[in-house]
Amino acid sequence: MSYQEDRSSWFAGQGLWEHIPAEDWRNWTWQLKNRITRVEQLEDLMELTPEEKQGCYFANKKLALAITPYFFNLVDTEDPHCPIRRQVIPRVEEMTTSPEEMLDPCGEDGNMPVPGLVHRYPDRVLFLVTDRCAAYCRYCTRSRLVSNSQGYDFHPEFEQGLRYIESHPEIRDVLLSGGDPLLLADRKLDYLLGRLRAIPHLEFIRIGSRIPVFLPQRITPELGDIFDRHGPIWMSIHVNHPKECTLELKEACDRLAKAGVPLGNQSVLLKGVNDDAGIMKSLVHRLLRMRVRPYYLYQCDLITGSSHLRVDPRKGLEIIESLRGHTTGYAIPQFVVDAPGGGGKVPLNPEYVKKITDEELVVRNFAGKEYRYPLKAGVGQLSQQDKADLVEAQYID
Ligand SMILES: *Cc1c(COP(=O)(O)O)cnc(C)c1O
Ligand code: SF4
Repeated sequence: MSYQEDRSSWFAGQGLWEHIPAEDWRNWTWQLKNRITRVEQLEDLMELTPEEKQGCYFANKKLALAITPYFFNLVDTEDPHCPIRRQVIPRVEEMTTSPEEMLDPCGEDGNMPVPGLVHRYPDRVLFLVTDRCAAYCRYCTRSRLVSNSQGYDFHPEFEQGLRYIESHPEIRDVLLSGGDPLLLADRKLDYLLGRLRAIPHLEFIRIGSRIPVFLPQRITPELGDIFDRHGPIWMSIHVNHPKECTLELKEACDRLAKAGVPLGNQSVLLKGVNDDAGIMKSLVHRLLRMRVRPYYLYQCDLITGSSHLRVDPRKGLEIIESLRGHTTGYAIPQFVVDAPGGGGKVPLNPEYVKKITDEELVVRNFAGKEYRYPLKAGVGQLSQQDKADLVEAQYID
């Protein structure tokens, strides 16, 4: 598979929804109201493969089907291997569970002191403030919680979580996630951020959101004002493939950047989507052009029904190696695996250290050449001239 970067064009336009007035198209509530949520709607728009048809039949038992018209336009309806399609259109493989797969692969439920708040690391918490998303990623690690299709009955209630953070001064960092926090109404988000900002020990507030990618229309000037008012608010978006880098996403990122929101990106390594060095390079370059710093590349979690999307982690290491030294350091994400069962994120790195002893460090560079860095300090000597200068200045005899 290869992907040719097209430098000139960033996808823009209403595509299949050309007949809709532009002001509707640009309205995020219109986009939400007109989401594709039923197999019949999908079939009106494209021909599904048998695997997809069966997947849609089961979808609402596992993780709801929902795609915004905006994001659907990125699907290549002619290509069954389209990387956008694999992310949001259900497939029958989702209903098979391999023995290693779990409903809560990162062991979050076991680290929740109060409902919706995961306190795993000493100084920071993950705060799940909603169970809804604008569209659903078929590999979602929280499919047990989002879209409410598994009967978890997860009803996020911020007050308990806020009180927990207020009463734990060791927490200096909060990550708002869900579901997607940016689906909350402006008023609620404003309230939530205001409450968090008022907690004196909280230094760092960030939001994990795929809204800029699924529903860039949500990034309104009013939303920008909220971030500006409660800033600094950091944000991690979730882009997996260069095709998702549209003009609309670029404009949403611009608006966020102007509201003082530093942007990072988290991608998931997915089979048939981005498990290719050329695609990943094109993605990270496009991200930098949108002022988004690639943050993490995740090994796909062992979520139930994900075997058709998971990739050998050696492929991820190979991709990172293909980037390091070959492109801008800012463009390179940290590859991580969320250790199954609650171990947290663990970095996965290609090996550049060939040898390290008390005497020397031996490394190889991006081009494969070896270099030595001696570790035994030799005895330093002053030059004759410096010695003479010091004698003259009467600092030594
Ligand atoms: C990912 C995660 C965080 C944030 O981790 P960073 O490495 O700081 O981005 C915090 N809590 C939980 C439970 C997480 O999964
Ligand atoms: S946007 Fe995030 S929380 Fe929502 S379905 Fe996708 S991965 Fe899951």
